[in-house]
Amino acid sequence: MRFGRSILLAAARSRRLNEFALHSAVVKRATQAFMPGEHADDALTAGAAIAASGRGLIFTQLGEAILSAEAAISVRDHYLRFFDQIRARGLPAQVSVKPTQLGLDLSLGECERHLLALAAKAEGTGSALWLDMEDSSYVDRTLQLYVALKRNHPSTGVALQAYLRRTPEDLARLMPHEPVIRLVKGAYDEPKEVAFEKKSDTDRAYYSLAVRMLDGARTGACSPIFGTHDLALIARIAERAEALDVRKDKYQIHMLYGIRDSAQRRLVAEGHIVKTLISYGSAWYRWYMRRLAERPANVLFVVKSLFA
Ligand SMILES: Cc1cc2nc3c(=O)[nH]c(=O)nc-3n(C[C@H](O)[C@H](O)[C@H](O)COP(=O)(O)OP(=O)(O)OC[C@H]3O[C@@H](n4cnc5c(N)ncnc54)[C@H](O)[C@@H]3O)c2cc1C
Repeated sequence: MRFGRSILLAAARSRRLNEFALHSAVVKRATQAFMPGEHADDALTAGAAIAASGRGLIFTQLGEAILSAEAAISVRDHYLRFFDQIRARGLPAQVSVKPTQLGLDLSLGECERHLLALAAKAEGTGSALWLDMEDSSYVDRTLQLYVALKRNHPSTGVALQAYLRRTPEDLARLMPHEPVIRLVKGAYDEPKEVAFEKKSDTDRAYYSLAVRMLDGARTGACSPIFGTHDLALIARIAERAEALDVRKDKYQIHMLYGIRDSAQRRLVAEGHIVKTLISYGSAWYRWYMRRLAERPANVLFVVKSLFA
């Protein structure tokens, strides 16, 4: 299983496969399981239906590691307009961005300025901004950006990855800033010195970080968000929250569009705050390969689409 994951994550870095996939109608059709469409309008329309079922929304335009300052500006401007569209449609929605999509590889300072503009716009439109966490080489800079944003824009959130060996210390360092944290397992191919190899170790680390975040929620030191589709883990976390007397409105569960939709609805019915993250955009190849790697059985979707 881990072998299949590594092959898929290696394929995510292949330019030739990227080119092939983007032009393949079959692969494009298969991506529809995880994204409603490439256009912002597709995402907003799908979002409205999900919001009607009592869920909140998070949107992200796919793309990472952009190559020019102009491209970063154009991504920033896209999101500035997108916040207006969210407000115009009255959607309960936030936006999540990858720092490399806003030029982190080119200039930390410029990237921070773009992010500050987005955080201010988010606040001004009644929304909030999230920073995704990318591969481990970006963690220090992403956390530095997060602390800078959080100072003036307290609703800003950041993702932390449970598979990284460093995350317990990162969590301790963030706590004095009263962080808004989306805890995820981690989606990248990392060396074993940096991240746990075994899924069981990651799952154990996730639960232990989750308990620390719930403890923080009791005193207002942390706003915990659990970004996972692992229903057994969510059940254990919810049980622990109850034992700690952390009410359901003090933490949230976030899942991806198209994954475990009925469980998302059930969690809402049980009184949990649930948000669905919807991706859109044409740069879906790397992101889609990570979704396949999370569950290599998903490759069957693609194979089935060949015969559909
Ligand atoms: C809201 C959200 C934001 C995220 N942001 C980031 C981020 O910023 N950085 C980052 O590195 N990662 C991010 N991720 C991805 C995350 O790291 C995991 O790779 C992903 O969520 C799969 O792990 P899991 O927690 O669902 O648990 P797993 O144990 O992998 O999965 C539990 C169960 O969920 C179902 N499932 C999980 N993934 C899939 C899938 N792709 N297709 C179909 N079924 C599936 C399966 O039934 C599986 O058995 C995010 C995930 C979510 C939900």
